[in-house]
Amino acid sequence: VETEFAARRRRIAKRLAERGLEALLVTSPANIRYLCGFTGSNGLLLVLPGRKPALFTDPRYELQAAQETGCRVRVVRSGPLAVAAAKVAARRKIVRIGFESQRVSFEAHGRLSAALPLGSSLEPVGMMIESERMVKSAGEIERIHRSAEANSEAFAAAVRKVKPGMSELELAAELDYQMRRRGAEQPAFETIVAFGARTALPHARPTSNRLSPNQLVLIDMGALRDGYASDMTRMLSVATPKPRLRRMYRAVLEAQLAALDAVRDGVTAESVDRRARQVLRGAGLEAAFVHSTGHGLGLEIHEAPRLGKNEKTRLSTGMVVTIEPGAYLEGLGGVRIEDTVAVTANGARNLTPTEKDLLVL
Ligand code: ZN
Ligand code: ZN
Repeated sequence: VETEFAARRRRIAKRLAERGLEALLVTSPANIRYLCGFTGSNGLLLVLPGRKPALFTDPRYELQAAQETGCRVRVVRSGPLAVAAAKVAARRKIVRIGFESQRVSFEAHGRLSAALPLGSSLEPVGMMIESERMVKSAGEIERIHRSAEANSEAFAAAVRKVKPGMSELELAAELDYQMRRRGAEQPAFETIVAFGARTALPHARPTSNRLSPNQLVLIDMGALRDGYASDMTRMLSVATPKPRLRRMYRAVLEAQLAALDAVRDGVTAESVDRRARQVLRGAGLEAAFVHSTGHGLGLEIHEAPRLGKNEKTRLSTGMVVTIEPGAYLEGLGGVRIEDTVAVTANGARNLTPTEKDLLVL
């Protein structure tokens, strides 16, 4: 039987053929993992349609590359991997090679061109692999679901330890610890914990700030489990928050539910974003919503599509995206509510089990 990796490479081979390309140099670690299963930090994959791909790596990953992939592993002991790959391409008389233009530095491109024989050409393929990655297989959705479950369980376990006097850093450490206890390799991104007025910073780094009973708590966390990311934001407080914050919470929740309701196969990404914005406009909070409504996720925490203004991409069954409107008011605080959902023909399938009422401890 064909492995999931071989099936993905076959789809890429078809795209290469359409563009008259004989090979593709893959440099993004997530794209390499997607196409062959290699999880090391230093690798380069040369996709050769109709043949076994060649995986270039350094001696640290020799054994791992052989264990994880069915590739022809080429261990490069000195010099850049790209130069070794260019030599292989030259030997095979391959002249038209695709490369990931948004992932290759100016310098690496120069080295690569220099190592290729005269008359060969490097052709940018843009987001070819990323656009394949947008639509997930059932197995990938299952992995993201398990990641979301581990994430939600870690959240529930850590929240039990929240008490006044705890610092943002302590809570972030507890969340990360609980995540790993539930099988996460690592957090999918640096866990965000903010107390009080600092919740108005959409991407607050945890600090040694300590929690006082009247403060709102924002937690944005995601697990990376079996290679797949999840992403969730929840709010809680020790005591009932001020009426203004409660109103803001209700408005953001309403916006989040409206956007979730708009998700289904065939709608544009911008139309989902518009729904969230409409609700927040009605609550006088449109200007306080400073980011887009969501993003795709999978092997990476931020993937295509982006659910924002002017995004014409149509959502389709199998895409997995976040829905995360928010509102932020300097001096007062911010609210964001975020779920990870799969797009289906009938709507959004929510993969995040944690409930969304404001959690008052
Ligand atoms: Zn998030
Ligand atoms: Zn997110």
